[in-house]
Amino acid sequence: MSAAMESARSASAGPELDVVVVGAGFAGLYMLHRLRGLGFSAKVIESADDVGGTWYWNRYPGARCDIESIDYSYSFDPELQREWQWSERYATQPEILRYLGHVADKHDLRRDIRFSTRVEAARWDDDASLWRIRTSRGDEIRARFYVMATGCLSLPKTPDVPGYGRFAGESYYTGRWPHQGVDFSGKRVAVIGTGSSAVQSIPIIARQAAELTVFQRTPNFSRPAFNGPVTDAKKAAFDTDPAAYRAAARLSGAGVPLEPGLVRAFQVSEAERLAKYEEAYASGELLAFGAAFADILSNPEANATVCDFLRGKIRSIVRDPETAEALSPKDHFYGTKRPCIDTSYFETFNLPHVRLVDLRKDPIASITEQGIDTATRSFAFDVIVFATGFDAMTGAIVSVDIAGRNGLALADKWADGPKTYLGLTTTGFPNFFAITGPGSPSVLSNMAVSIEQHVEWVGRCLADMREQRLDVIEPTPTAETAWVQHVNDGAEISLFPRANSWYMGANVPGKPRVFLPYIGGVDRYRKTCDEVIRRDYLGFAFDGPAGARCNDGVVCRLQPDVAMLLDALAELGVPPMESLSVEDARRFVIASAALRPPGPEVGEIVDGELPGAAGGLAYRLYRPASPGPHGIVAYFHGGGWVVGSADSDDPLCRDLCVRSGAIVVSVDYRHAPEARFPAAVDDGFAAVRWIAANAAMLGGVPGKLAVCGWSAGANVAAVVCQLARDAGGPAIAGQVLLTPATDCDFTRASYAENGDGYVLTTALVRWFRDHYADPADRRNPKASPLRAHSLAGLPPALIVTCEFDPLRDEGAAYAAALAAAGVDARHLPCRGQIHTSIPMVDVILSGAPARQEMAAALRRFLAAP
Ligand SMILES: Cc1cc2nc3c(=O)[nH]c(=O)nc-3n(C[C@H](O)[C@H](O)[C@H](O)COP(=O)(O)OP(=O)(O)OC[C@H]3O[C@@H](n4cnc5c(N)ncnc54)[C@H](O)[C@@H]3O)c2cc1C
Repeated sequence: MSAAMESARSASAGPELDVVVVGAGFAGLYMLHRLRGLGFSAKVIESADDVGGTWYWNRYPGARCDIESIDYSYSFDPELQREWQWSERYATQPEILRYLGHVADKHDLRRDIRFSTRVEAARWDDDASLWRIRTSRGDEIRARFYVMATGCLSLPKTPDVPGYGRFAGESYYTGRWPHQGVDFSGKRVAVIGTGSSAVQSIPIIARQAAELTVFQRTPNFSRPAFNGPVTDAKKAAFDTDPAAYRAAARLSGAGVPLEPGLVRAFQVSEAERLAKYEEAYASGELLAFGAAFADILSNPEANATVCDFLRGKIRSIVRDPETAEALSPKDHFYGTKRPCIDTSYFETFNLPHVRLVDLRKDPIASITEQGIDTATRSFAFDVIVFATGFDAMTGAIVSVDIAGRNGLALADKWADGPKTYLGLTTTGFPNFFAITGPGSPSVLSNMAVSIEQHVEWVGRCLADMREQRLDVIEPTPTAETAWVQHVNDGAEISLFPRANSWYMGANVPGKPRVFLPYIGGVDRYRKTCDEVIRRDYLGFAFDGPAGARCNDGVVCRLQPDVAMLLDALAELGVPPMESLSVEDARRFVIASAALRPPGPEVGEIVDGELPGAAGGLAYRLYRPASPGPHGIVAYFHGGGWVVGSADSDDPLCRDLCVRSGAIVVSVDYRHAPEARFPAAVDDGFAAVRWIAANAAMLGGVPGKLAVCGWSAGANVAAVVCQLARDAGGPAIAGQVLLTPATDCDFTRASYAENGDGYVLTTALVRWFRDHYADPADRRNPKASPLRAHSLAGLPPALIVTCEFDPLRDEGAAYAAALAAAGVDARHLPCRGQIHTSIPMVDVILSGAPARQEMAAALRRFLAAP
């Protein structure tokens, strides 16, 4: 057949295979096995000449896993679990490679793997609905589906060192180590880099080399792995019930059955904290510090206590104080760069023939033929070892020339950072899957668990498509945009984006600075992927003989920490408040207040009493630490006019005080049902008049008074503004209303959309309103300020509403009505938040920007002339 005929035949032909999988590491091997089991035809293409992936390439001395091998292994084959015994807690590279080879043999995988073949390019053929995959052998394979199992850490980064390539001696790369090994005996050796591979190899190279010089740009947190035989406790935990053990790993945050820290670092004494850190240190487990307290990876002060502790350990090991100092990380929070565990890493720097060059002080000027010149010195070497890391997570994917619909290049689509749906798929690239792709937990987890979950999801998806006679799948732009947003939302509430790490792409010059993995945890992530399937592949469009269909939508709409809070509440089985008696509801609010983080320190807190409309009212004054006098904010707590107190809103008041620099006076008001409408607003107005009249005595600036409130308290604040306007005073500089109750109309869309499941339910709003006001009174503007005859002349306002709140639309309506009446009113809608989340200081970190905006508005109102 002529070449032209061959090409025409191939152009019109259908797929030769159901699936092409690229990569024969942990992921590719299991993908192949799974696809075979489901009856799909599949081939794996692998550039190496054998299986193993990471464990094929990384043969440097000391290479081993740092998640315990019992955990870092497949769970899909119970027989394999029984027959394979790991010789150490953290197995060496040769042992892991043997394991993967054994898996390949046991399941006869090699016959469907084409080794020593690189996938160079892949093009989506829209007419034939298949991928055309071109390999380094010059051939093309046509497959319906294309799965990249190319690994997150498989493309070594080209060292960005001046003079790279000039060295005339031996050069080695940890990620591409020669199979025959390297003999360092009697040699002068340089190691460039101090990441995981360097930390593992340096102690072993030092044993052989005549001289070892380590060039360090960024010191890393490392600590002893205490490697040895698998502990009896671990073995027993696994052997007793392997299935339960694996289930616990799948339902954990990082894919290892480890109890997560629920307590915050500063909820315990310093002595208890240090004891916990000693325990984490002694455990030798990579994830132990991250799990020590709930806020290690989100609270800078909590994280700093870990950093101090670990720096102390480094100083206690490294004898030379200057070297110890240089080896102590100071430019990133613990865990925000991948931490290491080691065997005698820091001890190695006590050896007389080992030295450290701190490149921050003495940068590399150039690699030379003989060695390395720094700004101040010249070094001669026989060997240079480059431990310079990987183009992580996206590198191996975009290094293949992948073109989707209309020739769109994946590298172009991801030029500003990867965009995926679930880290598995990407729009414009039908029938394309990435195992542990960017936007999935991947490198933040035990990868064995994450790989199995992805492989099983893809397998299930392909089987469902076959059953439903569909042959093209692609995520929708809506789903993808929302997922990217969700991934970013998660990163934003953590400390991760603050580090120049490979998680952020910061190690590769020119790579966009985007947080690449998904921080929500493998448990939550798995639930999300399962939910997508359960909701009929939400966010995916399909096509095929059965026709086209699309179930567009967004799977994670809540902020990640809000979703976690709701899950935790669901697990606790807290009864709905409206099912309680008023007394029990009040007791419940008091009990939950006692469990929260306290909020920030303020300068002073004073409790007092002021005259209300019908007797004394308790108030609590929060004074900033700065010298006064200050503007004053009269604050009204939430609680549906029925429950709540200064205590219940204490953290929010502290936060507002610190952020706004104003005195916050949190005023109690009489509660329903004992004192029904209009007791609360009459008390509120009386309190504001008293505060205005007594501003100087309170330490405030007379005339500088704003009001603020949350929920029913925001209703009180809004009504007080109207009463003050109508009474000709006192002057109120501004109003900040957080999720205010402004009306009595339950027909608004936000009640239908959010009336169930987000703590404040429609039933609870009714319960509150029934306790507060008679039906005849509810339309009174003193109960429903939106119904005032005029809103003109009211103080400037910031109205904050939350997306998943029944009160959302009445808050938005109030903001719009104020603006229509000529009031300087700003509406701040908070995406992914619920009615109760913004006041949860130090719990809902994603609420901090809204709290900051509220404080900024107060500051602005009080600064106005
Ligand atoms: C030194 C080191 C230690 C690690 N330790 C741990 C640990 O303790 N715990 C943990 O969870 N994770 C660890 N990791 C992460 C590790 O990469 C994963 O756990 C896991 O091995 C990844 O498996 P994979 O199959 O997804 O990718 P890989 O193992 O990276 O395999 C990908 C394969 O794809 C091939 N490939 C890539 N592109 C192409 C192409 N275009 N054409 C053909 N073939 C291609 C590569 O040659 C490679 O063999 C470690 C990584 C390194 C580098």
